[in-house]
Amino acid sequence: MNKTESAPPTDFIRTIINEDMNTDKFGGRVHTRFPPEPNGYLHIGHAKSICLNFGVASEYGGLSNLRFDDTNPSKEETEYAESIQEDVHWLGFDWADRLFYASDYFDQLHDYAVQLIKQGDAYVCDLNADEIREYRGTLTRPGMDSPYRNRPIEENIDLFERMRVGEFPDGSRTLRAKIDMASPNISLRDPVLYRIMKVPHYRTGDKWCVYPMYDFTHCLSDSIEGITHSLCTLEFENNRSLYDWVLEKLQVYHPQQIEFARLNLSYTVLSKRKLLQLVQDGIVDSWDDPRMPTLSGFRRRGYTPEAIREFCSHIGVAKANSIIDIALLEHFIRKDLNQRAPRVMGVLRPLRVVIDNYPEDQVEEIEAVNNPEDPTMGTRKVPFSRVLYIEQDDFREVPPPKYRRLIPGREVRLRYGYFITCVGVVKDEKTGEVVELHCTYDPETRGGNAPDGRKVKSTLHWVSAAHALEVETRLYDRLFLKENPDEVEEGSDFKSNLNPNSLEILEGCFVEQSLVDAVPGRTYQFERQGYFMVDPISSERGKLVFNRTISLRDTWAKIQKSMKK
Ligand code: ATP
Ligand code: MG
Repeated sequence: MNKTESAPPTDFIRTIINEDMNTDKFGGRVHTRFPPEPNGYLHIGHAKSICLNFGVASEYGGLSNLRFDDTNPSKEETEYAESIQEDVHWLGFDWADRLFYASDYFDQLHDYAVQLIKQGDAYVCDLNADEIREYRGTLTRPGMDSPYRNRPIEENIDLFERMRVGEFPDGSRTLRAKIDMASPNISLRDPVLYRIMKVPHYRTGDKWCVYPMYDFTHCLSDSIEGITHSLCTLEFENNRSLYDWVLEKLQVYHPQQIEFARLNLSYTVLSKRKLLQLVQDGIVDSWDDPRMPTLSGFRRRGYTPEAIREFCSHIGVAKANSIIDIALLEHFIRKDLNQRAPRVMGVLRPLRVVIDNYPEDQVEEIEAVNNPEDPTMGTRKVPFSRVLYIEQDDFREVPPPKYRRLIPGREVRLRYGYFITCVGVVKDEKTGEVVELHCTYDPETRGGNAPDGRKVKSTLHWVSAAHALEVETRLYDRLFLKENPDEVEEGSDFKSNLNPNSLEILEGCFVEQSLVDAVPGRTYQFERQGYFMVDPISSERGKLVFNRTISLRDTWAKIQKSMKK
């Protein structure tokens, strides 16, 4: 990893680990894991967990595993498992030879379940899901014992075996832990450990028709892998007692579960279920649609792993839930791209400009700086000729107040080029729309400065019409209009807060000739416009598609400034 990234933060998790190192709790080991369920693509919330798990492990010279928590075959797929591996690697982390699957432990988990039955700590229950819920009670009402709670051990063993071989229909029986139906912690009211589900598993096929529940699987997977610190999000705080109960009853190696606050981002949904809905309903094109907060969507949009890691490190981990302003993430994207993205000129909404006094057949090669932030990136040649395109927005026949760009009679600078003055406007006879400008240039101002020292109010980007490449650009905006997309009127859902203008496609844009060899996946700064990545999927040679990663305006910097005032 890049050594220039900020120093690792200290936080309550690292404080706990430091103590454990001092007391030699795990023999000086730190071993973490990232345990996704392969039921969707990873999102930026997962990035926080990945950076934490892999980050902590590497800081302490420890190890981190990638483990698929694949206990629900109805929702899990190979496609998801593959995308998750690609995304973790892309983010910059490596599990070496420690890729594990909870499904690899199914035999062992089954044996542990039988052990619990034999100890009198688990029983087969014939209540259905609704009845179990009814018997469970509520926060204010204790639960009631299941009528099957005191089945003899032999009968439980027999029934569990018959569940395993497929004798009973889905949902008709479960294996439950025998803990305490009156516990104030609902997680401990005889939780279900195994359910019947005659669904083939994407890895184990038809071998099983009973599947272990998350709470039973997770702690034992951690134990089997020798995890030391099992870091998970706050919603599992109540489940910690069950995590501990299972491991204590089975008297196996016992990792420590520690909960931290999940990442919430404004204007963003971070729930795989909801993201899947956006894909299934065709609201976005796919999981890697550049508007999605998935790592694959961010990648395709041009976000960099370095920027995402910096963001995760900056927000740190805490014990209390909060919402992070998406402008902060965008700030880190801009900061990173500002350093690494070469500058080019591209005109999104072209307006033709003819320079009347420039020789018809003349073409000049003008030198342009590739990145003012990084002189080692050098310079390039940009052709200048009589007919150019500038941005429609950079001309106003009737300027609004404080408009500093081109207007009839005014002189402005063309970036790296010459001063030009607008001397004529051609309009479409029918619509009145401005279709072409006539300008004159001052040959003395080559490179952008006047020998007599006269100043101009603005500098415009441009491309030479005869040399420019025609491209498509896709301008992405936030997917949701509301800071909290889940804040809705009664009867509607988060989709009512979608931004109808989250994607604008522009055809007929022009970029400078140097981009002819632009490599898909590379990001450029279009001067004065923003950062654009060559779309790796839709681009073809001769027809490039650029995804706007982000505009140049840094709203976070503005927010910070206004806070300092
Ligand atoms: P979702 O709620 O989006 O469906 P999940 O928690 O069900 O996510 P998992 O695949 O189980 O998804 O998550 C793998 C790991 O990532 C878990 O340890 C989980 O706690 C963590 N994680 C998931 N979402 C976030 C988040 N928003 N912030 C931090 N960590 C998260
Ligand atoms: Mg989960």
